[in-house]
Amino acid sequence: MTIKAVRLVKTRQPLQLQEVSRPDIGGHDVLVRVKSAGICHSDAHYRAGVSPVRSLPLTLGHEVAGVVEEVGPQVSSVEVGDRVCLHYLVTCGDCYYCSTGNEQFCTSGAMIGKHRDGGYAEYISVPARNAFPLPDELTFEQGAVLMCSSATSFHALQKAEIRPGETIAIFGLGGLGMSAVQLARALGALDIYGVDVDETKLEMADCYGAVPVNPKAGDPVEELRRLTAGKGVDVALELVGLPRTMQQAVQSLAVFGRAVIVGITDRTFEIAPYADLLMKEARVLGAADHLAQELPLLLEMARRGSLDLSHLITGTIPLDAGAINQVLARLERGEAGIRTVIVPG
Ligand SMILES: [Zn+2]
Ligand SMILES: [Zn+2]
Repeated sequence: MTIKAVRLVKTRQPLQLQEVSRPDIGGHDVLVRVKSAGICHSDAHYRAGVSPVRSLPLTLGHEVAGVVEEVGPQVSSVEVGDRVCLHYLVTCGDCYYCSTGNEQFCTSGAMIGKHRDGGYAEYISVPARNAFPLPDELTFEQGAVLMCSSATSFHALQKAEIRPGETIAIFGLGGLGMSAVQLARALGALDIYGVDVDETKLEMADCYGAVPVNPKAGDPVEELRRLTAGKGVDVALELVGLPRTMQQAVQSLAVFGRAVIVGITDRTFEIAPYADLLMKEARVLGAADHLAQELPLLLEMARRGSLDLSHLITGTIPLDAGAINQVLARLERGEAGIRTVIVPG
């Protein structure tokens, strides 16, 4: 039996629709009929060969939600017919990192849509522990996108150890940033500053309760200092991936502040050890991906509406290689809204 999948066959070439055999499931696995697969900026990097995938051909797609179609004999956590969304990192569960609750560093971890076949397909097979119940209040599209951008923001806020009453600046108001604004609020941040050069994004962040800061109108570090009566912010999240915004995130910190770097770049940025770190006992940390254990709370926050995802999905397309390639091209040109989701139908 075969299924349709849109696959990366060769880097720097358009993805192709292929008929592939329906994925087998092992005893602990589930077969999920894909209802939604988000098209992420990372997918454009995989297609372009900027970020290497394990082997080709490969079905892309790491933001996946659907319905359980079949379960292996050892599976008891989900049943056939359940609505689920998928944690994208498949881990061994036994290595040093897995057994200490830090499975994003699993020595044999494999990301769906990068290291093993992903969700640009009619069906996908994953271990049952990667399938999380999707609350009825959330659509499949929201469930899919939640598992990448919102989960990454949530993990970054956990790494920042944000406490009730603190102030936070969020640099970059794309999919991650818009989730970060809402999650920071839900976690008790009092004053939230959204930093971006895009007025539309600033307005949306404003609707979610962030004070807009536009670097085009003046130095954001000075503006944040002015808005916080000279103190600076307790937490700064850098979601852009530019040396300049990373430096601004560090410079905008208050005493005991934490800057969390989430944006990706291979370039370096400068820190003044005395002014930026020592004098404030500040910390600069990185946050990578997220943890399975964080997802149930994140899903519950979305179910209750603390995290509103209704504005996040900007378009849907069918499981069609041409349409997907067009979205990837638009992402590469930086003009593809916030998130397009594939709905295989
Ligand atoms: Zn993603
Ligand atoms: Zn492991």
